[in-house]
Amino acid sequence: MKIHEYQGKEILRKFGVTVPRGIPCMSVDEAVKAAEELGGPVWVVKAQIHAGGRGKGGGVKVAKSLEQVREYAEQIMGMQLITHQTGPEGQKVRRLLVEEGADIKKELYVSMVTDRISQRVVLMASSEGGMDIEEVAHSNPEKIHSIAIDPAVGLTDAEADDISTKIGVPAESLADARTQLKGLYKAYWETDSSLAEINPLILTGSGKVIALDAKFNFDSNALYRQPEIVAYRDLDEEDPAEVEASKFDLAYISLDGNIGCLVNGAGLAMATMDTIKLFGGEPANFLDVGGGATAEKVTEAFKIMLKNPGLKAILVNIFGGIMRCDVIAEGVITASKAVSLQVPLVVRMKGTNEDLGKKMLADSGLPIIAADTMEDAAKAVVAAAAGQA
Ligand code: ADP
Ligand code: MG
Repeated sequence: MKIHEYQGKEILRKFGVTVPRGIPCMSVDEAVKAAEELGGPVWVVKAQIHAGGRGKGGGVKVAKSLEQVREYAEQIMGMQLITHQTGPEGQKVRRLLVEEGADIKKELYVSMVTDRISQRVVLMASSEGGMDIEEVAHSNPEKIHSIAIDPAVGLTDAEADDISTKIGVPAESLADARTQLKGLYKAYWETDSSLAEINPLILTGSGKVIALDAKFNFDSNALYRQPEIVAYRDLDEEDPAEVEASKFDLAYISLDGNIGCLVNGAGLAMATMDTIKLFGGEPANFLDVGGGATAEKVTEAFKIMLKNPGLKAILVNIFGGIMRCDVIAEGVITASKAVSLQVPLVVRMKGTNEDLGKKMLADSGLPIIAADTMEDAAKAVVAAAAGQA
């Protein structure tokens, strides 16, 4: 799960990290009022979306007067902000953060992630913070430093000072940087984050260390014990199909292709996507309807896939173990009738009640292409999506 920058800064503040004073706003008038309340002389108007790269996309603007705050808020609020993380269609801006302008002397980069290889939280840092960190990682990887933190000890003073020195924090600011890094680690640890990134962490003209940006991702499997984090959820920022699917407890991920996949079991779902790709097709989604899915659940899954305007064909691939093939068949038939199916449908069923499921589909009168093996099914659906069915 992701959250907005202003929410991330609320968390950081709670854990003792220094962040600029700022006020989240839902309208242009609120933004001007927030600027008045904060006091000048410099404000920054910042688009709040669940994606980075906002500065480069025109979503972060420095204002030197209240008139300018209004002007920029008008420009940014409601805009379709396109960044390297939003995809080409961009993301609509519905919230702003107005904060005090900071006196930036140097922009640094720090982040925490969970490293599966060392099985530890890793602190990464670079002297080259700001808007081009991806480029630095690509062309100057030696400028990115990291340490794996011992969970029994936490981030030590010595480790914090060592990494701060490596990224160019001067001696007189080391104690301040230590507070920020230890606060970031604690925030990461206690909120069950999977990513916590401050880019930029700045050195000010007077040597202070401040977090100017905040990006958090959280481990969805831990949300049951993080009610305060769950309260930050903003459904406007999430893929509507995925939100809808989560209501029915379906594991659904939207993808860029045009072949819808309805599969039971995550492993078979992955194998199905691989097989589609092997024969030159592109999956439109990952969908695992689960082991104990009912006909209603399958119907909902079908409806969600069919809402995708780019969908060209569907492959249903079911292994009937706990899930019976006749239940899937019933769901497919109900859903196809409910939405008056317009795209070719390929169905492969194996296992429990296979014959009954196949018979139900054949008797339904629906134009279903039956396939026996994974290869047959993938080839058939790729051809169907290409209009050769
Ligand atoms: P993004 O990473 O999405 O582009 P940031 O919050 O990092 O958004 O802002 C982009 C840039 O804008 C920063 O690298 C920094 O130079 C500048 N900036 C952001 N917030 C402030 C602020 N409060 N005061 C001064 N400059 C800021
Ligand atoms: Mg940033």
